[in-house]
Amino acid sequence: MGACLDPARCRGIADKVGSHYNDSFASTKESVPMSDDAKSRPVSREQAEEAVRTLLLWAGEDPSREGLLDTPKRVVKAYSDWFKGYDEDPADYLRRTFEEVAGYDEMIVLRDIEFESHCEHHMAPIIGRAHVGYVPTDRVVGISKLARVVDGFARRFQVQEKLTAQIAHCIEDTLRPRGVGVVIDASHECMTTRGVHKRGVSMITSQMLGSFREDPRTRGEFLRFVGVDRR
Ligand SMILES: [Zn+2]
Repeated sequence: MGACLDPARCRGIADKVGSHYNDSFASTKESVPMSDDAKSRPVSREQAEEAVRTLLLWAGEDPSREGLLDTPKRVVKAYSDWFKGYDEDPADYLRRTFEEVAGYDEMIVLRDIEFESHCEHHMAPIIGRAHVGYVPTDRVVGISKLARVVDGFARRFQVQEKLTAQIAHCIEDTLRPRGVGVVIDASHECMTTRGVHKRGVSMITSQMLGSFREDPRTRGEFLRFVGVDRR
């Protein structure tokens, strides 16, 4: 799969996923009791730990042997970190903007934003870098906020195309810039450690909106800044 160049499709994906995140877990809420430490979750921490024990058994292990006793606890704790994106709305990071930019209206690019995500098909890590650029209209955000937006979407179960589109649309919808570009270069462990076992393969996706999409010079400038071909 290559770059996502179809805005209608990406928009569709982003919308679908966006609404899923907003009422996350709503459909199963009534049926499963919740514990105090996971008020917004449809299952308790204990149930999640039990699921890890089941997977250990399935893999051929004895979950009661000493080395594995605390593993379910550790895995669930790791999950709270890897998937904390479900607890945040990345757009919040972009709501605090600065207007005093002395008329600056050229491109702003943050490149090499390292991220870790997990593919929604195998729950395997996706490790990569995102490059984000935009041309402001009248306001800009603190540059670290763009990295927080990347993390907010990356720390969920993802498909790279969807991650790329979500970041771009979030910036477009919240900042209302003249244009946005997002390029993601990532490797998928579901491909490197299983299946076809191909190491050193990375996938590049891009989402260009507004002037980045319409004006080849703007897009060219962004891609030069980002230098995805510099390796
Ligand atoms: Zn996968």
